[in-house]
Amino acid sequence: MQLLTGAEVAASVRERVKKEAGMFIASTGIVPCLAVVLVGDDGASRSYVASKKAACEEMGFKHIDYHLEADCDRAKLFDLIRLLNQDESVHGILVQFPLPSHFEEYAVMEAIDPAKDVDGLNPKNLGKLLLGQTSLAPCTPSGILQMCDYYHIKTSGRHAVVIGRSAIVGKPIASMLMQKDRNATVTICHSKTEHLEEITRQADILVVAMGKAEAVCASMVKPGAVVIDVGINRIPDASKKRGYRIVGDVDFDSVSPICSAITPVPKGVGPMTIAMLMSNTLSACTMQHGVMQ
Ligand code: NAD
Repeated sequence: MQLLTGAEVAASVRERVKKEAGMFIASTGIVPCLAVVLVGDDGASRSYVASKKAACEEMGFKHIDYHLEADCDRAKLFDLIRLLNQDESVHGILVQFPLPSHFEEYAVMEAIDPAKDVDGLNPKNLGKLLLGQTSLAPCTPSGILQMCDYYHIKTSGRHAVVIGRSAIVGKPIASMLMQKDRNATVTICHSKTEHLEEITRQADILVVAMGKAEAVCASMVKPGAVVIDVGINRIPDASKKRGYRIVGDVDFDSVSPICSAITPVPKGVGPMTIAMLMSNTLSACTMQHGVMQ
């Protein structure tokens, strides 16, 4: 069984981005700048935002931080996005999801200028993705495909089963895997799928993004399959100082002995998401200045 160490792949992506950014900054004097917007005080969101800011600093990017109250007026967030869309010194806009329930996330995705949409969630960018056109693609699915490339995982002609149909992971990864450059045969499963186990057992590549701690066990996996665990779940653990530990959506202990390759959690898909965010921020900046990468 091969461990697909996202942390290792992410380090190589970050190294590339840092090098390219350095060359871009040296030749143009323009420093890529990411606006990071956090609404509310969710602990996991705060820690993701902190990691994203630290990555910006590592890349030599600027970041501008905004923290709005959880109960802030919807107009306040949309006014901020409008200002950031207009500000030429800001190249990427990241609004950390999930948002408090009085916000419609779709409306936020739609409000961000597609050229600054480093999360790749604006309908224009997602539409281009579906059509197989180059655009700013969502970070987690892009990171998964980078990992597949790094570890020479063949997708062409293979049956990929995706569990989960979110806009941020399930739908875009399914779309990317079926495009002509990937050529997988894709099945998407979700919470209303019947006989889930029968379907997942057919997967050569199983991508799991359901947000249910350790829900996929060995009986759901075909021996020899490649298993990509996107899940990040906190479960109580009194032995840990912080009172919880992070697990994926896959029961690693039962699945890892039967699959050919698997991503660990943590240090699997998670670090790839941040690395691809950095890559998208540089791409957004260079494209806004008329330089194609
Ligand atoms: P989501 O809650 O938006 O979607 C979950 C999906 O799983 C839904 O489409 C639902 O239909 C499906 N689902 C739920 N229960 C199911 C069941 N019993 N059988 C089949 N399908 C079922 O989640 P999301 O935003 O896509 O995130 C999924 C997981 O990935 C979460 O744990 C999240 O924290 C994690 N995540 C990780 C990264 C990363 O960087 N590693 C990025 C995004 C999300």
